[in-house]
Amino acid sequence: MVAKSHGSFMKVGNLGFPRIGAKRELKWALEGYWQGKIDENELRSRTASLRLKHWRLQQEHGVTCPPSNDFSLYDHVLDAAWMVGAIPERFNPEPSLSNYFAMARGLKEQPPLEMTKWFDTNYHYLVPEFEAGMRYSLTDPKVLNEFKEALAQGIHTRPVLLGPVTLVWLGRHIKVEPEDVLAGILPVYVQVLDSLGELGAQWVQMDEPLLGLELSPRQVESFRQSYAYLAQHRKPHWPRCLLANYFSPLRENLGLALELGCQGLHLDLVRGAEDFEPALAEVPSGMVLSLGLVDGRNVWRTDLAKAQALLEKAQARLGTDLLEVAPSCSLLYVPYDLRLETQLDPRLKSWLAFSVQKLDELTLLAQGIPPEVRAESQRSLEERRNSPVVQNPEVRRRLAQIRPEDYQRRSPFDKRWPRQQEHLRLPTFPTTTIGSFPQTAELRLARAALREKRLSEEAYQSLLREQIAQAIDFQEEIELDVLVHGEPERSDMVEYFAEQLEGFAITQHGWVQSYGSRAVKPPIIYGDVHRSAPMTVHWIGYAQSLTSKPVKGMLTGPLTLMKWSFVRDDQPLQDTCTQIALALRDEVKDLEAAGIRVIQVDEPALREAAPLRPKDWPEYFDWAVKCFRLATSGVADATQIHSHMCYSDFNSIISYIAAMDADVISIEAARSQMELLEAFGEGRYPNHIGPGVYDIHSPRIPSVEEIIQLLKKIERYIPLEKIWVNPDCGLKTRSWAEVRVALKNMVLAAQAMRARG
Ligand code: GLN
Ligand code: ZN
Repeated sequence: MVAKSHGSFMKVGNLGFPRIGAKRELKWALEGYWQGKIDENELRSRTASLRLKHWRLQQEHGVTCPPSNDFSLYDHVLDAAWMVGAIPERFNPEPSLSNYFAMARGLKEQPPLEMTKWFDTNYHYLVPEFEAGMRYSLTDPKVLNEFKEALAQGIHTRPVLLGPVTLVWLGRHIKVEPEDVLAGILPVYVQVLDSLGELGAQWVQMDEPLLGLELSPRQVESFRQSYAYLAQHRKPHWPRCLLANYFSPLRENLGLALELGCQGLHLDLVRGAEDFEPALAEVPSGMVLSLGLVDGRNVWRTDLAKAQALLEKAQARLGTDLLEVAPSCSLLYVPYDLRLETQLDPRLKSWLAFSVQKLDELTLLAQGIPPEVRAESQRSLEERRNSPVVQNPEVRRRLAQIRPEDYQRRSPFDKRWPRQQEHLRLPTFPTTTIGSFPQTAELRLARAALREKRLSEEAYQSLLREQIAQAIDFQEEIELDVLVHGEPERSDMVEYFAEQLEGFAITQHGWVQSYGSRAVKPPIIYGDVHRSAPMTVHWIGYAQSLTSKPVKGMLTGPLTLMKWSFVRDDQPLQDTCTQIALALRDEVKDLEAAGIRVIQVDEPALREAAPLRPKDWPEYFDWAVKCFRLATSGVADATQIHSHMCYSDFNSIISYIAAMDADVISIEAARSQMELLEAFGEGRYPNHIGPGVYDIHSPRIPSVEEIIQLLKKIERYIPLEKIWVNPDCGLKTRSWAEVRVALKNMVLAAQAMRARG
């Protein structure tokens, strides 16, 4: 049992709370504001109530000093850039709300900051742009205001700052060196820390998750110099600094983190369990350790006994006063409150913890776990381990029986291609799309009506048939070569499969912020995955029945289904992924048996699911690639397998992509102006490839000439007989008006390339 010190309990920390709100209040407020339905005052007052509600809730659930400035109207990285005045030339520097949103969402003539995934999460941040000659100053004192706002309600918070080194190195540096940017922004950090001290802040949380990556010598130096600068300017009234690392172990950077002169260090003991012993051994006396024992990235209840054992070990070394229990990272990445789920299987529900429940777990750990609670926790874990809804002997048996040849297509690509051509008879520069066509308002409304039982299943299905028929007609009319059915039946490329696969559960309210006002509801993989019936054959088969051209079957790949879900933590990821791959393998074979000759298995998450340190990649890619091959290798040589990946940093992973051995891959390329093609050039990629020639992220419609120019550029890197012509990604977010013209232009461009003779 955790001993009390001076009659007080151990501190419960929290690194951040979900900002979207239990009922996605933030989303509705933001969208209302953007649509002009509410004004700035109303937006501010609604978001202030949301913050207050969350602070109170955290206090009620035991958090000693809840975080502030973890809230954001759009994104905390944008907030940090905005705080220091890193406002690119193309935007208005006046610190108004509309100028803030302009950076996030763009203006008619100004593209917004680029958006990219935050480490290996599904949260997107806006990439700061640091330009030469930028003058940095405290542009928005939001961090001070939120501290004051809470204080006015009698709540003492611990402000969260994105650390200067992570902020700068995650940004783009335009004609300027990161070191110079740091020199420019550090005085702003000094000013903020000084002001927070004046306001009475005791601690700040300084997030530097860059510390979990493989650092270059320059980055190490940035850490040393930046924190030396802060230490030099430190005044006695400044808050103490809790340096926070998460998502990946500190490992070789532990020494660096301990030497930066911070008064506390947060460890992610879920993903960085290996840091525990070395940190205990090396922590300088007097430094506070925040132990991230409760998983901030997943939804399972904590093994309290295991967490308590670690805590006791730390306590024996350091005593209670210098310890704090915390989630592994901010709770931004997990849903809000499990109590909102009324339709989950009660067994599954009893194994889960969302944000609020995680706070309760922390409080239990800090205060000492009563024996009956501990016993119940053990019982629950035990039950989950042995439950028939988790364990499926049939799935296990299949897994054990996988043979090496199950990972291999029958013949190498050179032999497969001619067999595919015998019946596909594709021209050079074959044209296709990535899968989805515009998800029209009609479709979304119909789906909502179906959910609320205002629309019958028959009426919905007939709408889907209509949409598919229209999509097929259109594609025939513009003379595309490989058609798609358009995915009208899918609200989401993961949820659609999760709803049909055993071992996956869907929540009602398990929303997690993706960016700005957007949230996603990841499924939960809780048990052995298998397929009880075909999932896509009906719709793809219908589409194929309408045309003599090949229709491409569309599946989401094993890795992507896993990465965009909450995944079980009771077996290696590789096993879970292999189970999904086996289920997909059956689907692929069923599609083939139904006469579908081209099948695409999308893996847009392959790269982002990789460990954060490239040193750990070979092991990961080995099983990830095998899972793709297991899913796709059961077919005849004459069946053509496609894959799609939408990101552009292929350089370091090209050999793994090649090892997937898809007949054709389509990749995102339009935005990067084909720069990435160098990675694929000179025979580094052996099979066929379709670099996107239409940037679907923008409403701009590319002209025929523009696409021809892109194709000519592609030809410089890739032999022309291997080039496919397709957009960057699915078209679901675009309008039919745009898509009609853009795809027509794309086909005309391909035809012009062929006609050169
Ligand atoms: N087939 C999917 C679509 O077209 C692929 C989406 C993706 O790559 N994210 O929508
Ligand atoms: Zn894509």
